[in-house]
Amino acid sequence: MTELDCQETKRQVHEFLHNELNESEIDDITTHLANCDSCEADYDMENLINGSIKEACDEVPPAQLAERVLAEIRRIQVNGGTH
Ligand SMILES: [Zn+2]
Repeated sequence: MTELDCQETKRQVHEFLHNELNESEIDDITTHLANCDSCEADYDMENLINGSIKEACDEVPPAQLAERVLAEIRRIQVNGGTH
């Protein structure tokens, strides 16, 4: 199994939430998330956004959805970074 760094993990969180990873990748990412507060926070945030978007609109095309998710993340990061 591979040691993921934070950059790699944060990149894969998205795929993880969309069930696009294979079993060993899921293993790697969950192991890293369990040991890294920073990436775990990232995962929680994506998961939250993902859930709320899914509830709001089920029929948005994936590309558009990804953009909305990214926009949401940026917004949250901007707001969260001020204190
Ligand atoms: Zn990390």
